[in-house]
Amino acid sequence: MTIALPANIDSVKGFLDKEEGQALVEYARAACAKLPALEVGSYCGKSTLYLAAACQSVGSIVYAVDHHRGSEEHQPGEEYHDPVLFDSQAQKMDSFREFRANIDAAGLTDSVVPIVATSAVAAKMWQTPLGLVFIDGGHSEAAAQADYHGWARHVAPGGFLAIHDLFPNPEEGGQAPINIWRQAQASGLFESVEVRKTLGILRRI
Ligand code: SAH
Ligand code: MG
Repeated sequence: MTIALPANIDSVKGFLDKEEGQALVEYARAACAKLPALEVGSYCGKSTLYLAAACQSVGSIVYAVDHHRGSEEHQPGEEYHDPVLFDSQAQKMDSFREFRANIDAAGLTDSVVPIVATSAVAAKMWQTPLGLVFIDGGHSEAAAQADYHGWARHVAPGGFLAIHDLFPNPEEGGQAPINIWRQAQASGLFESVEVRKTLGILRRI
């Protein structure tokens, strides 16, 4: 079954392919009727909107974790810097204004719990089991490891761990995300369900 996606979803700035977004919808709908979803790395809310629409359709919610200060590649002078998202007063990146506007415009405010914090701080006292965790935060090895260790253990049995930006060929992209994808399978706790474009989906055994 397909669900109606928010009208603004294609105009929201971000880094998620449509087919990958559709995969998030399918797996969130399958696993989140009784448990919430959580994403690490929301940016302007593109992935959040897919997850929120899916969660809303099954009566669930998504926790959206992002410090909104941007990853390395979003900083001034870097490849994916967007000056519109730079707060000149704070002299820092700030994607939260844009994020909130996009969620509000989509009418999905009541399906999203923004957590404006680093992934490690948000994970520190976390106890709620999760139907789906989507990892799309920092791409350094340290950031990916912190995301994996902070969140993978909260995926409930039968739930899904989704990891973005898998590049089997190191020339196409950083290896930190695919490293945690491999680590999850080696742990014996997860099995690979599919890889759609650069999005890996694993099921918690
Ligand atoms: N999922 C988004 C893209 C995320 S880009 C989309 O669909 O378009 C990566 C995001 O991760 C950035 O917004 C950055 O601020 C955030 N991020 C990077 N490292 C983080 C960390 N350690 N804790 C929380 N957020 C982090
Ligand atoms: Mg990504």
